[in-house]
Amino acid sequence: MAHIRFKALELLYSREIPKLELNTRRTSEYFGENVFNRRTMQEYLSKEAFEHIVSAIDKGCKIDRKIATQIASGIKAWAVNKGATHYTHWFHPLNGATAEKHDAFFEPTADGGAIENFRGELLVQQEPDASSFPNGGIRNTFEARGYTAWDPSSPAFIIGTTLCIPTIFVSYTGEALDYKTPLIKSVNALDKAAVDVCQFFDKNVEKVITNLGWEQEYFLVDEALFNARPDLALTGRTLMGHASAKDQQLDDHYFGSIPDRVSAFMREFEYESLRLGIPIKTRHNEVAPNQYECAPIYEEANLAVDHNQLIMDLMSKTAKKHKLRVLFHEKPFKDINGSGKHNNWSMGTNTGVNLLSPGKNPKSNLQFLTFLIVTVKAVDVYADLLRATIMSAGNEHRLGASEAPPAIISVFLGTELTKALKGIEQRVSTKKMTPDEKTELKLDIGKIPEILLDNTDRNRTSPFAFTGNRFEFRAVGSSQNCAAPMIALNTAVAQQLKEFKTEVDKLINKGIKKDEAIFQILKKYIVESKKILFEGNGYSEEWVLEAEKRGLSNIKDMPQATKAFVSEKAIKLFENNSVLSKRELEARQEIRQEIYVKKIQIEARVLGDLAINHIVPTAIKYQNVLIQNVQSLKTLLGDVEYNNMGNTQIDTIKNISTNIKEIKELVNEMIEERKIGNNIENMEARAEHYNKKVKPYLELVRYRIDKLELIIDDEFWPLPKYRELLFL
Ligand code: ADP
Ligand code: MG
Repeated sequence: MAHIRFKALELLYSREIPKLELNTRRTSEYFGENVFNRRTMQEYLSKEAFEHIVSAIDKGCKIDRKIATQIASGIKAWAVNKGATHYTHWFHPLNGATAEKHDAFFEPTADGGAIENFRGELLVQQEPDASSFPNGGIRNTFEARGYTAWDPSSPAFIIGTTLCIPTIFVSYTGEALDYKTPLIKSVNALDKAAVDVCQFFDKNVEKVITNLGWEQEYFLVDEALFNARPDLALTGRTLMGHASAKDQQLDDHYFGSIPDRVSAFMREFEYESLRLGIPIKTRHNEVAPNQYECAPIYEEANLAVDHNQLIMDLMSKTAKKHKLRVLFHEKPFKDINGSGKHNNWSMGTNTGVNLLSPGKNPKSNLQFLTFLIVTVKAVDVYADLLRATIMSAGNEHRLGASEAPPAIISVFLGTELTKALKGIEQRVSTKKMTPDEKTELKLDIGKIPEILLDNTDRNRTSPFAFTGNRFEFRAVGSSQNCAAPMIALNTAVAQQLKEFKTEVDKLINKGIKKDEAIFQILKKYIVESKKILFEGNGYSEEWVLEAEKRGLSNIKDMPQATKAFVSEKAIKLFENNSVLSKRELEARQEIRQEIYVKKIQIEARVLGDLAINHIVPTAIKYQNVLIQNVQSLKTLLGDVEYNNMGNTQIDTIKNISTNIKEIKELVNEMIEERKIGNNIENMEARAEHYNKKVKPYLELVRYRIDKLELIIDDEFWPLPKYRELLFL
């Protein structure tokens, strides 16, 4: 039988680039055509229903049953007109995926016919049999009901022939079992707290919107090679594979020209995304070979998160059509850059002001500095929590590796702002300021360039960087639902804004003028959170040492890092802001630890199988060839002359034996450690065991396999090699 690897390579070499049917439609013609957006709503809804839904979206007002029925019938009419036959509630359970269960619109009628029907109740609420979604012990098996409830702020859309209705997912007792519920609550908490602080500067502000623009990194691999690598297919990453002689050393992939095959894939998923109203805008090659990035224009955070989940799904589906596979894993290949998901985050007002953008005058600049400094302070106070939200089995490989933001949370501000903060620190004191001092300070602040965006220095090594008009949280994992870090960030900033307001009000009540009170609290925050500010190279060894001196934590493993998620401080934060309860947090924590354990467990099993069933037999086959060769040479030359030639083959034979022996022993030890781990009841302790006792074997076994890859005849090697996987 021909070798599976060579068969895969043959397929790869014979691939034809799909002919692109040139899409002649202008984007403006098809953008959002598969979305029940405001434009479509106006067409399909009565004026009354339209106004109701708009106020539900903009002001969070409740929609009553009667109106829901009207809206349902409008949505149905639109969907059926576009060929939809089914509908589903679409939600984000805590396993990180999206879930859907399709039901047909049709209902039989008494006369033997059928009609398309979609009642208001079906739009508003559904009860999926959801007992196998993760719930962390919240849903008892005897009470397995979960409910999905319509989220009108994210519009319904059609995929294929199914109408998808974005929903939240909660338990019978009202606890959140998804990401959307707490995300919406965190957005609301931030809205309220930010509006209150805006009142210091502008009485017209009534609403503050959280914006998110994500950048999604990913790898592409040919389908045949992917299928020939059980590790990639089952775990999303390669568990073995010697480095390719050439990979990313020359940086020749970054921003390089996009191969035709990849470009065909990109154009197709972008087209579908645009039809779904996802404002996808940017595409480029990333640093590693076969690594790419896409990014939309930023949107309101809840919508942006939905769009990110949706596009990951679309990309996976489209890739299959193109005989490709898209890898969202944070570290699919060893020693090559991993993938992240940069979360560009900002707050905007109903008056059209970006609160993280400097304004035209000292007053608006003071507002900008307030939101900037309060955010820095929030990141300082809740750094451990932020880290906890982005740690996963996959991201553990990336954070702190030489190409990704470190596991130390720090904030980069750039020269201009660092100067501005220093100015406040030096000029403001608790003494009453003289009019001259005030004028000078205001002049200083007025000097912050109106458009920082063009002249901010970029620091690519910071996990949390200010980039001119937003913060960019770069440590987020590429496969992750970006809601998790956004929930924590929104809530932390909301809390800090509330505290800021209380502190300023206190000073005002003591008779200190508003501006001065604001300056004093800002100065206090600058001093208190100075340790988190870092402008240098975050990838360097010096920073690790420096951070330690500053007392910043650097926790690289998931079980340790995620403790902060259920710390007293975190529970208080989330409960105070009505975002998540203690019970919900603990359930979430348990789910995450369980996922962590399962991921490592699967990796260990796959690697064990591959090592024993693929690699060891291959090594033995090649060893036999060498043994035969030695025997033939000895027969030909005689022992003396053979020995005079030097025993190079014999050395290789012995070398292979050593590696085989090591692999077998290591795999057995790894199995034993798994058994011990599986008997640990407490999920936190089990995750720690898997981290400390099982995970290290993955590297040890791999090391031996990669050594064998270098020795064994290429013709014998069963799995596609890095040099084959990495270049399309
Ligand atoms: P870069 O790679 O330079 O960071 P990209 O264009 O790849 O830039 O992505 C930047 C992302 O940040 C985009 O999604 C963009 O829409 C988003 N963005 C820009 N301005 C803001 C803002 N004020 N708030 C949130 N996101 C923003
Ligand atoms: Mg960016």
